[in-house]
Amino acid sequence: MTPLIRLENLTVAYNRHPAVHHVSGAFASGSLTAIAGPNGAGKSTLLKAIMGELRPAEGRVEHRLGRAEFGYLPQAAEIDRRFPISVIDTVMLGAWKKTGAFGRIAPAEVKRAGEALSAVGLEGFGRRHVGSLSAGQFQRVLFARLLLQDAGIILLDEPFTAIDARTTRDLVDIVTRWHGEGRTVIAVLHDFELVRAHFPQTLLLARELVGWGATADVMSSVNLLKARAMAERWDEDAAACDPEQAPAA
Ligand code: ADP
Ligand code: MG
Repeated sequence: MTPLIRLENLTVAYNRHPAVHHVSGAFASGSLTAIAGPNGAGKSTLLKAIMGELRPAEGRVEHRLGRAEFGYLPQAAEIDRRFPISVIDTVMLGAWKKTGAFGRIAPAEVKRAGEALSAVGLEGFGRRHVGSLSAGQFQRVLFARLLLQDAGIILLDEPFTAIDARTTRDLVDIVTRWHGEGRTVIAVLHDFELVRAHFPQTLLLARELVGWGATADVMSSVNLLKARAMAERWDEDAAACDPEQAPAA
């Protein structure tokens, strides 16, 4: 395996309280990985650390990628849809990588944005206000934006949460296609059925790593119970990281 992103004893903290604790391992180039774990397990934090949006408190994230090489779909709760912007403009934000934030957008890009909308089943929705869309339609728009961005590594934070079954199926197909094209995809997921059916690799996180490897091995009932137990005992050990407790690097 060719590692694309390596995590070395990675700890990420908010106000010195670790949300991700001593995680080590690697994402292979072209791999398709689910990140699973209880609420508050540090999954979103881990994605942000991988992109370099959050700095490690300890350890490292190693890769040679720039921020623009990551396609990123934030968790729905972090997106404000009241912002008055049209569907097509939202998709066009995916072209930033090529145009720069204030660059002129070429007609070819506008055409590609229209094609991306068609590819997610939203032909003719370009002029609609994003605030008028259903949750599923809005998620399709964000996938169209990722299609336009054309990134080699794609990070998705709960892409199928609160989305209808039909949309989930269509968007899972796009993820599978990305994987077939050799892109590296990392997705936070809650639905274990989806993980088992479509994601060859799984990283199971409960602030600390519970398991990381082939999905069938990682998603064992023993590991899932362990993840839940680790989540339940956080309150008592959510104190600032004690270096004495750290495993030898
Ligand atoms: P998950 O995505 O697995 O639900 P998060 O990565 O969002 O977990 O959060 C992990 C822990 O870090 C939680 O205890 C959460 O409350 C805390 N946390 C997340 N974001 C912040 C923040 N911006 N400031 C302080 N604490 C945060
Ligand atoms: Mg999250």
